[in-house]
Amino acid sequence: MGKIYIIDVTNRDGVQTARLGLSKLEKTIMNIYLNEMGVFQSEFGFPTTKHETYYLQANLELAEMGVLKPIHLGGWLRATVGDVKTAFKYVPGIKHLNISISTSDQMIQGKFLGRKTRDDIIQMMVEALEVARSLGAETVGVNAEDASRTGLDFLLKFAAAAKEHGAIRFRYCDTLGYDSPFSIYETIRAIAENVGMPIEIHCHGDLGMAVASSIAGAKGAIDGGQDAYINTTVNGIGERAGNADLVATVLAITKSKGFEGKYELGMPIDMSKSWEIAKFASYAFGVPIPINQPGVGANAFAHESGIHADGVLKDPQNYELYSYTELGRGETELVETGREICAGEYGGISGFSHVMGKMEVEFTSEEDAEKILELVRYANVTAQKPLVEKELLFIAEYPDIARKLLTLRPLDVP
Ligand SMILES: [Zn+2]
Repeated sequence: MGKIYIIDVTNRDGVQTARLGLSKLEKTIMNIYLNEMGVFQSEFGFPTTKHETYYLQANLELAEMGVLKPIHLGGWLRATVGDVKTAFKYVPGIKHLNISISTSDQMIQGKFLGRKTRDDIIQMMVEALEVARSLGAETVGVNAEDASRTGLDFLLKFAAAAKEHGAIRFRYCDTLGYDSPFSIYETIRAIAENVGMPIEIHCHGDLGMAVASSIAGAKGAIDGGQDAYINTTVNGIGERAGNADLVATVLAITKSKGFEGKYELGMPIDMSKSWEIAKFASYAFGVPIPINQPGVGANAFAHESGIHADGVLKDPQNYELYSYTELGRGETELVETGREICAGEYGGISGFSHVMGKMEVEFTSEEDAEKILELVRYANVTAQKPLVEKELLFIAEYPDIARKLLTLRPLDVP
């Protein structure tokens, strides 16, 4: 039986969302959380974008140091030879890639304006794939953008060509959220049976079905004899109506009727981190968690009406499908209501030492503390809000990596 793996794309689809973004340090902390949860791969950024270069390199260093291990760090780029070469020029150590090209007639006509045929699309993808492999990519996934509006015959041909030239996975992108669980099940199953390669399922929420379509697609892949890789984002943040939410997707895989024992995760996910990662993403993106968000919303375990409250007090299973403790909820949170010292971009050594002292961080010397403070100031410039404890501790522990993350160097741009 095939298994289901999670590839989280918060640091790619999430940050490319209109009006939203993360600092490079926030992206790094996100990778650390995803690794701690046991997510298979983080699509950690854009290796052809100059301002990502130091961030991507620094995160690959963290992987080598064992800090970001065993998670895979995958870069996303367009399936063109030029982009692949640029990616390896900027980030020579990159190991995992997803290369993307549009496959629907709508997009082939609408984006390439008659200059490309379907055969050209396959040829471009194959050339990019071969160059990526020759430049040292260990794994390359091939993405069919707008796959849900692409005819099955062409999808099969495209995926078969990707497999033949060494792609490790085929990513089926429901780019516009057009699929329903019924349609995606049939299509993914047909691809799995006919092409015989692991399938990534990338769904959007334009019709409110991102999670449902993702798990239906995964079922299709497994019924077709293949592993499934679901693309998620934390809190479902992504283009337009968003992507499949990480916590909701894992809950759906592990708790929904008929999945247990048949359609299972290939790597366990530590759901006790759910609350923490959801809160961090909410703070970092500046987007509140909806009150009715599965698992992590304020109302996910709240009961008021007489019948429900009475029932849940007698036995929580009367009205709760799973427990808040499984998601790392239940601890009382302390909110400072008196004097507060924050570490900011114009902060000084006294306030900074106070903040770090509260977290029981001690510096070997005043010089050492000054060095970390300087990095914290820069981190505040990029975040424009007080850093969270995990960020401050990260900078104190890995100052050299932090220095790299904070390096954008626009003066180098020609
Ligand atoms: Zn997307």
